[in-house]
Amino acid sequence: PRVAVVMGTRPEIIKLAPVVAALGPAAHPLATGQHWDADLTDVFFAGVGMAPPPQPLVGVGGRDRADQVATMLTGLTAVFRADRPDAVVVQGDTNSANAGAQAAHHLGIPVVHVEAGLRSFDRAMPEEVNRLVIGAVADVHCAATTGNAEHLLRAGTPADAVHVTGNTIVEATRRALPGPVQRAAVQAAHGVVEGGYVLATVHRPENTDDPARLRALLGALGDLGLPVLLPLHPRTRSAVVSGGCPVPPAVRLGGPVDHATFLALAAGARLLVSDSGGVQEEVTVLGKPLVVVRRSTERPESVDAGFAVLADAGGVATAARWLLRPGWPEELARTASPFGDGRAAERIAALTLAAAHRAVPAALP
Ligand code: UDP
Repeated sequence: PRVAVVMGTRPEIIKLAPVVAALGPAAHPLATGQHWDADLTDVFFAGVGMAPPPQPLVGVGGRDRADQVATMLTGLTAVFRADRPDAVVVQGDTNSANAGAQAAHHLGIPVVHVEAGLRSFDRAMPEEVNRLVIGAVADVHCAATTGNAEHLLRAGTPADAVHVTGNTIVEATRRALPGPVQRAAVQAAHGVVEGGYVLATVHRPENTDDPARLRALLGALGDLGLPVLLPLHPRTRSAVVSGGCPVPPAVRLGGPVDHATFLALAAGARLLVSDSGGVQEEVTVLGKPLVVVRRSTERPESVDAGFAVLADAGGVATAARWLLRPGWPEELARTASPFGDGRAAERIAALTLAAAHRAVPAALP
């Protein structure tokens, strides 16, 4: 069978790489071009041993949401109509995943949704609406946790279409994390030592779109009393520049780094501060404390297991003190990840191949 695997952004490449590997020759990776920056795409394909797939839809990055979804829906429809994959895999909650799921569904091709059933219950987040749309059209829902599966069941999704697989980030993190010697070399190259720094990432519009909020967040990072590494997402870099945000001396800006480098830095950090979705999962595999700088999260598992605390800029210092209270970092280092056992990709590949074999060629419109 032929399985199209749709990837638009950095986290999709990271989390689908284990699925592509598990699917073997059946996998046909497709890059939508939603992330157009080589630092966010090509290095990630290379990092997982995939050549960057030809980009059928170059130039959708940076456009507004409606244009992005419309362009990718048209582009992916043409690709699927020509290639007739037996199944289409999408991951997460991006505009690319939304367009891929809809295109496949309209053509009668089974849709497999990886990381299904996340809900923030905050419809102001574009990602939440993408999750709802994909959930409505997917045929196979691969939920990372039982909580995610329950969201789908409560929404009326047929029980036999919902599977708790775990999240592929567990195996992706284990595979990409460099060994101790290499980790120390990466930390040294960034001018930091194990346990003596904070690693931060910021890219969500709720933090970058309002210069006052971004300024407050940078200020809070600067007051943590440790050097802070902040590898900047291109969106954040332009927000810092255009907002004229002062950068405190403790905060060291850099460009985005590849996944192995990011994990090496995360594994050695005393604390992480981030608004990323994926980082909320990775800290549970690495056993690290994280301040989530967001007003809501669709990943309560990280909070419930004690790895993460939600805070706004004003609450970062208090959240950091709580997470670093005596004994707690050691406790987290021993706590199992709530996101699965590292075999999610195997399960997802098996479910995908089963769906591909079941697929009845649909009548084209
Ligand atoms: N990441 C990376 N390099 C960086 C920053 C993040 O490899 O400089 C990885 C991080 O380990 C995680 C993923 O990118 O796996 C998260 O992506 P992002 O924060 O862009 O998206 P989100 O997870 O919020 O959708």
